[in-house]
Amino acid sequence: MENELILVNKMESTVRQAVEELFKEKEYESVCKCSRCKLDIIALSLNILPPKYAVTTQGNAVVSVKLSSDQWRADVSMAVYKAIKIVNNNPRHS
Ligand SMILES: [Zn+2]
Repeated sequence: MENELILVNKMESTVRQAVEELFKEKEYESVCKCSRCKLDIIALSLNILPPKYAVTTQGNAVVSVKLSSDQWRADVSMAVYKAIKIVNNNPRHS
């Protein structure tokens, strides 16, 4: 059933996008970007931010989110900055 309805948290793809963007900045050159740290940063950011659930179809699971307001963009960036700092100071690996 390709049109089966599923629930997605749109905030997740937004955060993943924001992390990718921030990782390209010079400021984060020294930050560990391994998959473990990246996922920890995403998880932590998602725990800080409010979820944005939406109903969609299986085929549209990858939702591209337009950051509609500057305020929302600022909130997402702020949470990701915070998460990068926490994970970088205390990576879950040696
Ligand atoms: Zn790492």
